[in-house]
Amino acid sequence: MKKSILLLLIGIAAVLGAPFTGMSQRVCGTAEYVKMLAAQNPEGAKKHALLEARIASGDASKSLMPNSVVTIPVVVHIVFNNAAENISDEQVYSQIEVLNEDFRLLNTDFALGVPTEFVPFQPLASDIQVQFCLASVDPNGNPTTGITRTATMHGPFAYPTNDMMFAATGGIDAWNTQQYLNLYVCNISGGTLGYAPYPLTASAATDAVVIDVFTFGKFGSAISPYNLGRTTTHEVGHWLNLIHIFADDNPPTCTDSDNVADTPNQLDANGGCPGVTVSCSNGPNGDMSMNYMDYTDDRCMYMFSAGQKARMLASFSSGGGRDGLAGSGGCGGACPRALFFTDEFSGLTADFQSQDIAIGWNHVTNASAVTYQTGDSIRLKPGFHAHNGVSFRAFINPCSGPGVAEPNAEERNAVADALPRPQCIPNPFSNVLQVSFSLPENASADIILYDALGRAVVTQYRNTTLPAGEHTITLSTAQLPPGLYYLDLRTPWQHFSRQLVRN
Ligand SMILES: [Zn+2]
Repeated sequence: MKKSILLLLIGIAAVLGAPFTGMSQRVCGTAEYVKMLAAQNPEGAKKHALLEARIASGDASKSLMPNSVVTIPVVVHIVFNNAAENISDEQVYSQIEVLNEDFRLLNTDFALGVPTEFVPFQPLASDIQVQFCLASVDPNGNPTTGITRTATMHGPFAYPTNDMMFAATGGIDAWNTQQYLNLYVCNISGGTLGYAPYPLTASAATDAVVIDVFTFGKFGSAISPYNLGRTTTHEVGHWLNLIHIFADDNPPTCTDSDNVADTPNQLDANGGCPGVTVSCSNGPNGDMSMNYMDYTDDRCMYMFSAGQKARMLASFSSGGGRDGLAGSGGCGGACPRALFFTDEFSGLTADFQSQDIAIGWNHVTNASAVTYQTGDSIRLKPGFHAHNGVSFRAFINPCSGPGVAEPNAEERNAVADALPRPQCIPNPFSNVLQVSFSLPENASADIILYDALGRAVVTQYRNTTLPAGEHTITLSTAQLPPGLYYLDLRTPWQHFSRQLVRN
């Protein structure tokens, strides 16, 4: 669409006092926004350039085990000027679900089959192994819904601005941007659908993503053709360091790249729902216009590529800018990340390098000498003492907030090591789900199934004492809608968490 028509449409919308009508081509503000950040924060731009060099040299590569997933706590800040902009919790949930589908390649538009002309790109579509939860623990350790609501006298926010990120300018201060993905949902004027900083480019106070309220989630204020939540998928892609696949060069050329090898260079952004578009000698398959990082309509974008995955994961490498997020405790009890981490050392002082939260330790006679915090190392301070001649083992549980106690005797730990790994079948599941585990003695167990938003949907046992031996428990799941779930099993010996798909 020509720019003059776009401006006319926006002009009509402004005259009528209506929100952005959503009829024009997608406009993302990230490229210009990052330029503004570079002017404000040259240090950040330098750090980001260094990260780019490390990615190019392969120095920032990060790989995840097949079943491992990075979970990112999300806080959604709704900054509203009128009732229509004060969107419902359900609308927020619909957006979190889209993020989880799109980043795990569970989006049904991909699963149900892509148009014939785009089948050649299908093998490149990737599960990013990143998922999102609405925060259940706030920065002060208190329970939270992960949603804040701020009434503002501020009119539509004129892009590019950070006004919504500060209470002093009609918004709300961001939560610790090292530990939470902050999504600001507000009315952005001028037709920009959203914008985000690349890792390391923004200051700590402004390292947040902004989404226009008329493109957020799947219903309510969301307006077609941007009502399937893909604007947020696209902007979170930027936040994890993805560049538009058309590379933002102005005027458009075929020489600039998004620095991803498996996305063909293309001349310019695609809009609407195009068929095969050949540019930059990229035939016969043409532009990868179904990529989330093009400008097509929500219903016509449905994949990230393998190369984009590698680039996003690099931001979780040490110094990659998003490394603090990987171990944040903001997801609370439903966090599906690793079980516990163990390490050993001999001697009286040591640093445990981990982004997780320690919740127990053994052979420590002065527990107060151990401090821990999310996103930092665990440090044994002077005064720490371990028994001579024994190994030390830290129990680390990234899923629990402060104050949760787990067993910490070494004998118990040795027993845990010998236990078979719990099983959870089938996956995907439908009407029933079987969970198998062992107890070496009579003990309490918790078995809870959470949905993608961290809500407990089936509580089989909670602090229930079970006899020693093998257990196979059948959970009735017939009433559950299809989607992503997490099975959480806790005994005094094991904490098992598994992501599952309900068909
Ligand atoms: Zn963009």
